[in-house]
Amino acid sequence: MSDRIYNFNAGPAALPLSVLEEIQASFLNFKGSGMSITEVSHRSKWFDDVINDAVARTKRLLKLDDSYEVLFLQGGASMQFCMIPMNFLNNNETADYVNTGTWSTKAIKEAEILGKPIKVVASSEDKDFSYIPKNIPFNSDAKFVHLTSNNTIKGTQWAEFPDTQSIPQVIDMSSDIMSRKLDMSSIGMIYAGAQKNIGPSGVCMVIIRKDMLNMVPETLPSMLKYTTFAAKNSMYNTPPCFGIYTIQLVMKWIEETIGGLDKMEQLNIEKAGVLYKAIDDSDFYRATAAEDSRSLMNVTFRLPSEDLEKQFVAEALENSFGGLKGHRSVGGCRASIYNPTTREAINALVDFMKTFEQKNG
Ligand SMILES: *Cc1c(COP(=O)(O)O)cnc(C)c1O
Repeated sequence: MSDRIYNFNAGPAALPLSVLEEIQASFLNFKGSGMSITEVSHRSKWFDDVINDAVARTKRLLKLDDSYEVLFLQGGASMQFCMIPMNFLNNNETADYVNTGTWSTKAIKEAEILGKPIKVVASSEDKDFSYIPKNIPFNSDAKFVHLTSNNTIKGTQWAEFPDTQSIPQVIDMSSDIMSRKLDMSSIGMIYAGAQKNIGPSGVCMVIIRKDMLNMVPETLPSMLKYTTFAAKNSMYNTPPCFGIYTIQLVMKWIEETIGGLDKMEQLNIEKAGVLYKAIDDSDFYRATAAEDSRSLMNVTFRLPSEDLEKQFVAEALENSFGGLKGHRSVGGCRASIYNPTTREAINALVDFMKTFEQKNG
């Protein structure tokens, strides 16, 4: 498909070509229903099979036992910023938040709007969020610890999650879910807007340990309670059907085409390695994240001047490389290289970067 570009968008972002082709091929007549998946009832067997398979594959990939629920909610990851404190903090209960960038800051802000006495126990704001904090003093009375696994805008990522003893971790994995294997032993909940790494926008995957559901107060409105969705297999109301279907196909792709999260992680390490090496080997490009905090998903870098950055992004686009402009709040350049980004796309980008440097360096 030569009319498709190399897509380095941060989100919504690239999906595996084979997934898009499967959606296209089955779009007008889904599994003999005579309808597209966007036209069938969410109460039908066709959709039941889709959502159940999406959940089963998610559980297999992450090796989750029956103590976890996999839910599909709406409102994006941003809705979780308020749902988390609403569901897990009663009265004067507190939680620890680590501030590693724009999205953590927003999660903190929502808890504060609700008047919850949360504590920000560590922050990397002093160095423009270019690193992941270490040796964090967690409070033993915290009901949960909130972390942002991968900082999409600043290009940093937790290489390993901190030791929070018995306090459950609630982790925003919007931009790195399913990109690597995961030790779930300290994790109470994961949430991820699908549009970075696993699907289209409009659906947020939530993986929640069942004991966390005991913390949810009865007094919340139904649509804001995790228990509502857990009791109804995410179908209390009409779920985001098309998004869930796409997630199902992406999970199938990771399981059957890639071969699981070990392989996915290996591939992501290789891909990011090639790109960071090209940046490190040059005096023209400069990576912005501290070396031990670099993201495998969002590679952020600068050129010698803002004019050159503008020219780089424009010439890249002319050469079929899309999405390389940094987030509007930070400037610079960013290549988002989520699961679907191929090694071939990385190699092509590195070649382009070398050529650009030769001409302009
Ligand atoms: C994109 C992003 C969000 C916001 O997701 P929405 O689905 O747009 O609400 C939150 N957290 C992280 C880490 C993100 O990358």
